[in-house]
Amino acid sequence: MKRLIYADNAATTKLDREAFEAMVPWMTEQYGNASQPYSFAREPKKALAEARALIAASINADPEEIFFTSGGTESDNWAIKGSAFSDPDHRATITSAFEHHAVLCSCAAIEKLGYPVTYLQPTADGTITPEALESCITDHTRLVSIMFANNEIGSIQPIKELCSIAHSYGALFHTDAVQAVGHINIDVKNLGIDMLSASAHKFNGPKGIGFLYVRRGTRIGSYADGGSQERGFRAGTENVASIVGMAVALKNNASMLKANQDKVRSLEKALLEKMNAAGIPFVRNGGEHTLPGIISLSFDGRDGEAILHRMDLMGISVSTGSACDSKNTEISHVLQALHIPESLANGTIRISLGKNNSLSEIDEIASSLTKIVL
Ligand code: PLP
Repeated sequence: MKRLIYADNAATTKLDREAFEAMVPWMTEQYGNASQPYSFAREPKKALAEARALIAASINADPEEIFFTSGGTESDNWAIKGSAFSDPDHRATITSAFEHHAVLCSCAAIEKLGYPVTYLQPTADGTITPEALESCITDHTRLVSIMFANNEIGSIQPIKELCSIAHSYGALFHTDAVQAVGHINIDVKNLGIDMLSASAHKFNGPKGIGFLYVRRGTRIGSYADGGSQERGFRAGTENVASIVGMAVALKNNASMLKANQDKVRSLEKALLEKMNAAGIPFVRNGGEHTLPGIISLSFDGRDGEAILHRMDLMGISVSTGSACDSKNTEISHVLQALHIPESLANGTIRISLGKNNSLSEIDEIASSLTKIVL
């Protein structure tokens, strides 16, 4: 049987083997409820504390600033709704038009309840500029929420500058860093971030687990009411196995960060060179400053959906845009926000490479694209 090539790592990633093995005991022998006072809970409790410390260290946070969640969607919902609902003055939120739907739909939900939201437009290369933020932020802004890097085109945002503008108006700064954590270096203290969302399955951890970093002293309401887990902010019995798996995956990615980045960047370069050499006409979206491995390609006058299906028939998994949008055949909101001409936007696919891809797979991807597009 032909080997399948997975090139949709921005949708999800393969679980790290060591992370998987580290999870097993917490689902078999060590199944105790970490929040109970007896001895059987001692080891799970210790494992949670160690995982929290590892995760905190990876972004230069303190352990008590890390709150475990079910993933990126929950972290984004919590940051946006939790900060709005703790503000009796209903001050405004500023976000961008090309955020993930976890942010956009959370903003739409608070808007319905009378909290104003402004949507900044990205530049053509996918950047939210400090000038764009300056033009609409006021003393009545409570929260600025701008993603660390876009999931469809990979463009990395000027987080430090945006943060400092938000703070100079007394606003909080949240970033959806779901695509960035575990792939590029992030130091929340140096950047000045108040809240940061992350999701384990994007960095070779298990699905259905993530975290929200909340800087000490940040005003935010609880996400789930019930038990006193996560210091009363996010009730629910802790998913010890997944939390341990997330911490091991993040530690492993962090320890190989530079090597992984170099590998993925060289695969990316090889793919683009092969496409150029084959004479395939394409436009790459996302500008110069992108996450390693996220490659958004537009083929003028082509149908991205058809390209995806033909690549699938050849055993290669890519995406037309955001994975969460795969049922939506309209032009994605990200490409719309970039004002990409329709004939290019319709012919767009996203190839997202990861540390497990190889050069021989790049050869196959390039030769398949040559057959399909030329
Ligand atoms: N934010 C971004 C930028 C994403 O790419 C995704 C997933 O695609 C999410 C949030 C949602 O994360 P999760 O799948 O963990 O809910």
